[in-house]
Amino acid sequence: MTIFTPEALEGSRLPIFVAGEFRASQGQPIACFDPATGEEWCSISDATETEVDAAVEAARTAMRDPAWRDISQSDRGIMIGRLADLVARDVERLSQLETKDNGKILREMRALTQAVSVGLRYFAGMADKVQGTTIPVNKPDMLNFTLREPVGVIGAIVPWNSPLLLLNRCMAPALAMGNALVVKPSEHASAAVLALAELVAEAGFPPGVFNVVTGYGATVGDAIVRHPGVNKIDFTGGTATGRLIAGAAGQNLKPAMLELGGKSPHIVCEDADLDRAVNGVISGIFAAGGQTCVAGSRAFVHESIYDEVIDRLVQRTKEIRVGAPTDEATQLGPLALWAQVGKVGSFIESGKAEGASLVAGGGRPEGLGNGWYVEPTVFANVTNDMKLAREEIFGPVLGVLKFRDDAEMIELANDTAYGLASGIWTNDMNRALKFMRRIEAGMVWINTYRSPSIMSPSGGFRDSGYGKHNGFAAIEEFSRIKTVVIDYSGQTQDAFVMRVAK
Ligand code: NAD
Repeated sequence: MTIFTPEALEGSRLPIFVAGEFRASQGQPIACFDPATGEEWCSISDATETEVDAAVEAARTAMRDPAWRDISQSDRGIMIGRLADLVARDVERLSQLETKDNGKILREMRALTQAVSVGLRYFAGMADKVQGTTIPVNKPDMLNFTLREPVGVIGAIVPWNSPLLLLNRCMAPALAMGNALVVKPSEHASAAVLALAELVAEAGFPPGVFNVVTGYGATVGDAIVRHPGVNKIDFTGGTATGRLIAGAAGQNLKPAMLELGGKSPHIVCEDADLDRAVNGVISGIFAAGGQTCVAGSRAFVHESIYDEVIDRLVQRTKEIRVGAPTDEATQLGPLALWAQVGKVGSFIESGKAEGASLVAGGGRPEGLGNGWYVEPTVFANVTNDMKLAREEIFGPVLGVLKFRDDAEMIELANDTAYGLASGIWTNDMNRALKFMRRIEAGMVWINTYRSPSIMSPSGGFRDSGYGKHNGFAAIEEFSRIKTVVIDYSGQTQDAFVMRVAK
């Protein structure tokens, strides 16, 4: 087998992974770029419909294969644990592949890949602990219980920003419950997901349990969503794409879980520990170059400390080390996509045109060659009606707004179409807990930010999507309940009257 490393894959066309083996795709090539240099480094294929069919068929076959269907829950857990060990062994290689494809800093990709291993281990432990329930149905001599079964074939459609971590939020619980997967990584970042396929094979999963077909969303992604052989869709990506997928899945009566975009409010109260709060705001927007769904892109600062916080944010922003993502000293790497550089630039222009004050950044750094870099940027005097505050930018641009009191703060924070994450910095717990109750967001962070855990349910409200990853909630997403009724009365019932509880 090939060992997937950036060096080994340089200049090659990556295969697809179907029924436990790598195959050359017959589809059209798609170039993959290294955002740090702007150079093409390898290519993938836009897999054909026949190849998507083959991947779905392989997954369906795996669901009927006694080696997977009848494996004991504990053995399934052991197999997932083996995969966790292999990911831990290969953290460096997998992280380098992700950085090569999406430009995010290597230090962060290492942490996230390590988290993939931890997540696999968590769900490996869950595999033999999932139980049904026994239900009292008010009928003597009748037993009603539930079974939790796999859903079947899961179509996982993954974005480019953290391919392995985001895929694993679906993969680990789906495998723990005995499902099979057909995965479509982003056309911008497929290499690490293919490398993971190699490890799935090494861990000993039966062929077809895990398949990867590369390509565009409109072709391969859409074919997976509409495929009658796929039982559920797990999608992480943009809200506009989520709407398309929900529509197509709905037409096929297929459940979909959607983890979409955000415009998360990040609040700094006047009683907060300002050192920690400013650090949190900087981390919330500039970690990963703002290319995270939970980016705290709207900071709300109490009017009494507004100027001081702006000064501190500007100072911290100017100190951020922008550079090559593989350099251990770098804090902010390039953007993942060239198109994103233009999009972020247009948001910066719109901020200026709408009257916000550009107080840090706003341009492209010099001396970094042709890499897709944008300076970390801060706008002050932003208001919630500006484009900058309403739309997801997915780049290193922070808008700082002002609030007078808590009522206004909650109103402004909730004045968005999204509802993914939120954060508040305050030393007044009453205030924090009221915020927790009133904010319309799936995740609330108090005196911390961007602190997810595989053990803690995550997912958005409103235009940020529906469904929950992580924790036991994910087991519920990737299993279905079957209800079983046994009549042990030995009596013959009235054939024409339904036996309902009295
Ligand atoms: P995207 O929506 O452009 O693409 C995501 C995936 O969907 C890709 O694999 C793409 O090929 C595929 N796709 C596109 N059109 C499709 C279609 N019609 N049918 C099926 N598949 C299709 O998103 P992106 O640019 O890759 O990622 C960035 C977005 O992801 C941001 O909006 C971000 O907020 C969101 N995101 C959300 C979360 C979360 O947990 N809520 C996490 C990470 C990223």
